[in-house]
Amino acid sequence: MVAHPALFTPVRVGAVTLPNRVLMGSMHLGLEEVDGGFERLAAFYAERARHGVALMVTGGIAPNEEGRPWEDGAVMTDAAVEEHRLITDAVHAEGGRILLQLLHFGRYAHHADLVAPSALQAPISERPPRAMTHEEILRTIRDFASAASRAIEAGYDGVEIMGSEGYLLNEFLAPATNLRDDAWGGDAERRRLFPLRVAAAVREAIGAEAILSFRLSAIDLVDGGSTAEETIALARALEAAGVDLLNTGVGWHESRVPTIATLVPRAAFAEATRRIRARVGIPVVASNRISTPEVAERLILDGDADLVSMARPFLADPAFLAKAARGEAASINTCIGCNQACIDHTLTGRVTSCLVNPRAGHETVLTLAPTRRAERIAVVGAGPAGLAFAVAAAERGHRIVLFERRPDIGGQFDIARRIPGKEEFAETLRYYRGRIEELGIDLRLGADADADALDGFDRVVVATGVRPRRPDVPGADLPHVLDYAEVVREGRPVGARVAILGAGGIGFDVASFVSQAEPSPGGDALRSFERAWGISYAPESAGGAIAPVPLPPARTVRMMQRKPGRLGAGLGKTTGWIHRAELRHRDVEMLAGVDYLAITEAGVLVAHEGAERLVEADTVVLCTGQESNRALVPELAVRGIRHHVIGGADVAAEVDAKRAIRQGVELAATI
Ligand code: NAP
Ligand code: SF4
Repeated sequence: MVAHPALFTPVRVGAVTLPNRVLMGSMHLGLEEVDGGFERLAAFYAERARHGVALMVTGGIAPNEEGRPWEDGAVMTDAAVEEHRLITDAVHAEGGRILLQLLHFGRYAHHADLVAPSALQAPISERPPRAMTHEEILRTIRDFASAASRAIEAGYDGVEIMGSEGYLLNEFLAPATNLRDDAWGGDAERRRLFPLRVAAAVREAIGAEAILSFRLSAIDLVDGGSTAEETIALARALEAAGVDLLNTGVGWHESRVPTIATLVPRAAFAEATRRIRARVGIPVVASNRISTPEVAERLILDGDADLVSMARPFLADPAFLAKAARGEAASINTCIGCNQACIDHTLTGRVTSCLVNPRAGHETVLTLAPTRRAERIAVVGAGPAGLAFAVAAAERGHRIVLFERRPDIGGQFDIARRIPGKEEFAETLRYYRGRIEELGIDLRLGADADADALDGFDRVVVATGVRPRRPDVPGADLPHVLDYAEVVREGRPVGARVAILGAGGIGFDVASFVSQAEPSPGGDALRSFERAWGISYAPESAGGAIAPVPLPPARTVRMMQRKPGRLGAGLGKTTGWIHRAELRHRDVEMLAGVDYLAITEAGVLVAHEGAERLVEADTVVLCTGQESNRALVPELAVRGIRHHVIGGADVAAEVDAKRAIRQGVELAATI
């Protein structure tokens, strides 16, 4: 029997029948604007098409100059057609289909000539937009149509019009951002006119055979967004205008509701798609936090959607779909929703990649070809760096013995997976466990490898990670002072008042861990998430964003750092605000610019803002960074054993799974 039969049931989209119901959603890969980027893009898409993705959508390309994301952002000009042909040829050669996404950034653009229906600055933008004139609106519609014709000329199988996430088309739809009172605004029907005219013009430009997808905002999650009825009216009008496929987006970029981070329950927004699907005749695509074939299958079986869109899961594992089809879902390298190497990179001008798969976006430069000379290699430490090296080296044909002192693999990931909202990190460990078995890696748990045990290997990879730093503060050795590993991994009990020293990623994780109230037994995680972040599906709600009602905190928590400035400033670009908001909801007090004077039985004595203060605490948790564990290295050197040091054992400062995994794979690629 076919695994996931609903997912692999063909579906008709416009004039085309797709062999399965998975769409690879649009991702900006950061290669669109770099030299040689189109060759790399072609390799990226081709690898995914080879593994069975039936339909994919490119990253957003602007239809005109004002629509660019930033000054040198890609525009679908005549000159671009030949470059795009590299992509379409590569995808077609693998039997896939690909749509070009046309995306006008509207008031989210990061250049000086940004436009919008009304001159209202977005809360996340650097400057206000200019309101478009009637003539500009008509010209923009023509620009969409011309860009769409060029997409067909470049060999694309159709076009997706980006109408969600708060970009230009979405801005026309929402009363909060469209204050016009002319043909293009004033009531819901006139606010719909621009997106509808764009859709109709694009349909005319691409002809009847090409696929026309429209990505509409299924729920805006901002005040003054569209109501459900307005969204459904738009969906029906788009169908009438010739759209073949309704892809869905969730939440505007300026929304204060997390929509894709790892703490968002899987398929959390299925309700938004379901209510559209019930009222249209064309296929509807669900998106957001669909990261496993099981979740995708359930959405289709339950009638929430006709297709599912996944984007990041194809960064994490290009063979996702082929594995799902073979019934090997357990061997999928699952996207853990961390955003660290994908969207955080995209938004900071770096090539989009993936924390758990550093080859993503680098397919042509980071290759794992079979080795010509297999070696016997010892890897010491089964944290992210050691695991990544061991698996990549074994894939190349090396024989690996993997030593781990603890009873299980995981290292820092074994800590992260215990943090509320980071449970997905366990998926990476499940993946590595499977690969260790499939590749015949000799895993020795509970084995403290010393130099004697390592003699005789062709080389040794030291991936022994880090140990928590104990700061030099009087009283740091008192019994109520614990380090983060003791609290999170060992489960040592903590009191009703907790003081946390150090406010990096781990300090925030620990604050979340100790402040989180126990969920009520049998409680529904999705409903709790909706309440905690203020999501409403009530028909009268304009935008679906309401006041959050978080659970009361489990404890009184205070966190501190020595440097001045906002706590959490160094957290991920797309996730830092979520961690800060979560702790604010739980009344966690944050103190910056403190001097630790002493830890006493009553708490932490600090100098803060020119005065001494006792931060009362029953338990003090140290999240004050790490030190490298590299005790093995001197003896390996003395004995002349060839060795490499990777991950936290190499550089402890800001020990980081993204760097550790990449370093492991890069080293494996060179041996
Ligand atoms: P970190 O970001 O370097 O933070 C260490 C904290 O310890 C800082 O707040 C620092 O602040 C303080 N500190 C450093 N030396 C100290 C000393 N001698 N005495 C007292 N305080 C000291 O590292 P981390 O929190 O340990 O996290 C490690 C890495 O894990 C992160 O860089 C990140 O890559 C990853 N991570 C990320 C996340 C996330 O983004 N959500 C979560 C977990 C882990 P002051 O020096 O100002 O006091
Ligand atoms: Fe998923 Fe994280 Fe990889 Fe992005 S970096 S694709 S969120 S695992």
